Amino acid sequence: RTHQIPGHRLPLAKYGGRHTVCALPGDGIGPEMIAHIKNIFSFCHAPINFEEVQVSSSLLDGDMDAALLAIERNGVAIKGNIETKHDDPQFHSRNVELRTKLDLYANILHCVTIPTVPSRHAGIDIVLIRENTEGEYSGLEHETVPGIIVTREKIERISRMAFEYAKANGRKKVTAVHKANIQKLGDGLFLKVVRDMSEEYKDIKFEAMIVDNASMQLVSKPQQFDVMVMPNLYGNIISNIACGLVGGPGLVSGMNLGDKYAVFETGTRNTGTSLAGKDIANPTAFIRASVDMLRYLGCHYHANIISDALWKALVEQKIHTKDIGGSNSASDVVNATLINIEKLMEENPKK
Ligand code: ATP
Repeated sequence: RTHQIPGHRLPLAKYGGRHTVCALPGDGIGPEMIAHIKNIFSFCHAPINFEEVQVSSSLLDGDMDAALLAIERNGVAIKGNIETKHDDPQFHSRNVELRTKLDLYANILHCVTIPTVPSRHAGIDIVLIRENTEGEYSGLEHETVPGIIVTREKIERISRMAFEYAKANGRKKVTAVHKANIQKLGDGLFLKVVRDMSEEYKDIKFEAMIVDNASMQLVSKPQQFDVMVMPNLYGNIISNIACGLVGGPGLVSGMNLGDKYAVFETGTRNTGTSLAGKDIANPTAFIRASVDMLRYLGCHYHANIISDALWKALVEQKIHTKDIGGSNSASDVVNATLINIEKLMEENPKK
């Protein structure tokens, strides 16, 4: 039950108490996962309407514009990953384009140990806050403005998000991940801005850690981390390590937040093409993304019911897909969750 989003005002439901959100199924397992979410939402009468927009790597640019327009109209979206064709240098990632054009500057993941899900370490509870719109990861591999790949303004807002998030959620420590010993300009600026800002937050412990050491520390002693803040490219790698530590790509959700819009997806943003159409991909990460979205929209009753029902299925009933050592299908997880939802709603009807 975390994720108090600092400075966030609840969007007003538009029509008859219902919100309209965009659903971008994307490629690979995305479409079947979005179908599961729609099924769960309609089963528990979550007050959400979906406007579905298809964007995939095989479609034309016009579809991307339609998707952006729809998200701007609705303010909120849930998405699957859009495949990026690796070989063609002309083809820029639609996922990156979407995040930069909507200025979704913060990517927030909560990596927490789930009892009964096998992992090397117990007791992990880390929030990763990643700059999401600039740096080497923006696909340019050179400066956006001559001499600049990162900007003070963007570093300041992601740092502010990290400290405010820590404060709002009772977190004790923020670790800034960097490589300022080598990347003296960009990472040097990142480190200076975060460190200076830490002075304003005396109750929160601050530490800086070089990205190579942070990677090693994560796999050996992950319990030492609380909130981690980092530039875009390191965030991509560190968040994959952290997701791997708590059970893999099928488990963790990720929020993309800006000042105006919010897009919810899985933490590691996989396409899972080889799993598509087989009913074997773990639906947990997508279901948790849908719970994050409900919380963001202020639909706490439905968020809690779905979250508790999924927890019951995973932890108490051990309905596990293959990626976490089980033999259940995605539909088994969803069906168990639905049965649990029904019981929980009977025990605790919406007032
Ligand atoms: P493919 O697209 O063929 O799966 P890939 O190498 O591009 O291959 P990603 O989509 O990046 O793979 O996913 C990385 C790995 O995580 C793959 O082994 C994939 O099968 C696995 N994976 C991704 N999503 C899930 C999920 N929801 N449940 C279980 N495994 C997953």
